[in-house]
Amino acid sequence: MTKKIVIAGSGFAGMWAAVSAARAVSLAGKEADIEVIVVSPMASLTIRPRLYEAVLENMNPDLAPLFEAVGVSHIAGLVQTIDADARLIEIGKNDGTQLHLPYDKFVLAAGSCLFQPPVPGLAEHTFNVDQLEGAHRLDIHLKSLANRPETAARNTVVVAGGGFTGIETVAEMPERLRKVLGHDADIRVVVVEQAPHIGPDLGPVPRPVIEQALAECGVEIITGAAVNIVSADSVTLSSGQRIQTHTVIWTAGARANPLAGQIPGERDRFGRVIGDAFLHATEVDDIFVTGDVVQAATDGLGNTTLMSCQHAQSLGRVAGHNAAAELVGLPLHPYSQPKYVTCLDIGPWGAVYTEGWDRQVHLTRDAGKALKQAINTTWIYPPPADRNAAFVVANPDFVIVP
Ligand SMILES: Cc1cc2nc3c(=O)[nH]c(=O)nc-3n(C[C@H](O)[C@H](O)[C@H](O)COP(=O)(O)OP(=O)(O)OC[C@H]3O[C@@H](n4cnc5c(N)ncnc54)[C@H](O)[C@@H]3O)c2cc1C
Repeated sequence: MTKKIVIAGSGFAGMWAAVSAARAVSLAGKEADIEVIVVSPMASLTIRPRLYEAVLENMNPDLAPLFEAVGVSHIAGLVQTIDADARLIEIGKNDGTQLHLPYDKFVLAAGSCLFQPPVPGLAEHTFNVDQLEGAHRLDIHLKSLANRPETAARNTVVVAGGGFTGIETVAEMPERLRKVLGHDADIRVVVVEQAPHIGPDLGPVPRPVIEQALAECGVEIITGAAVNIVSADSVTLSSGQRIQTHTVIWTAGARANPLAGQIPGERDRFGRVIGDAFLHATEVDDIFVTGDVVQAATDGLGNTTLMSCQHAQSLGRVAGHNAAAELVGLPLHPYSQPKYVTCLDIGPWGAVYTEGWDRQVHLTRDAGKALKQAINTTWIYPPPADRNAAFVVANPDFVIVP
């Protein structure tokens, strides 16, 4: 009987886990004995890092040709339960039926979702750029503002959260609003961050550049204030300040997919499972955790993975390889990604590229933007549906940023 490697998710981690597992199975010549199966709503990759952009084209490339080329099968549905003792998952399939699928190795790559605390009005009145539907909903809303009477609320966008996603999103807004309301419109674009500084997780080094860039884009920064209440036409901050707006975009944080909560073991404050060097979930057998659902050490210096595409791609390759390696008898590959970089898009100003965990600034403005565009249009996209070419990049040794 064939053995099954089942991967939940076809995001950056799941896609690479599948191709990497197929590669290891092929290296061992065990294609006839081992199936690699991906379960996700669609055999496609949502390019989440680009969902703040104004033009939502090619944000969901089809993975079916790639999966076919490397011999991976796909089940359209959502994993609902994981029974680690029975080595069995339950899937709610897109066709409305339920499927109980046994596995020999299970890889959880179900990603993350926007954290929405119980702020009054948040669920009803905010927009977001977390998933493709949300990004489309925001786009339709922004375009519809032109049909409303001119008021301060119509002309104002507030982005809640001044982290990486909040900065990339807010920097696009002056141009997007002007495109809808006209170049002479009296627009206001505000980012609200509850920490004392914008980009608190990005540290002090790039901060002056980010502040200057946002100012040049026409973005107002409010720090040290939390969003307390959202309504259809305003947002009230913890400082008592009330801003008239029909458009509040929530970007304040992400949490691991709730499926991570079904895996026994230690978790971090984002709900991620703490993985070992090989990305095993440490308290159960035959389960690997990868991408945004795992926290793992990136080096021997105490740095750990972030919920980022940069880490998810390597984490995926390693988890997929190791799941297959345990079945075919290949050596396991430890996860390591000592080089850390960031490339933060800041609208028409350009982008800031940093290297190192202390985020030393290496490129700004147009030079940074050119790199960001290469990342966003090439680096993070699926490989061509060519078995040999895909296997070269699926090697767990492959280094994304040399
Ligand atoms: C606006 C925005 C900007 C970002 N910018 C950057 C950036 O500049 N740089 C960077 O490195 N990172 C960035 N990120 C973060 C990056 O997108 C994530 O870290 C990355 O997508 C994580 O990859 P993943 O494969 O773990 O999860 P995801 O890409 O979220 O994929 C999860 C997959 O699991 C599937 N799934 C979900 N639930 C289930 C289930 N129950 N059963 C089966 N399948 C399921 C989903 O459909 C999807 O296929 C950004 C994110 C956002 C939202």
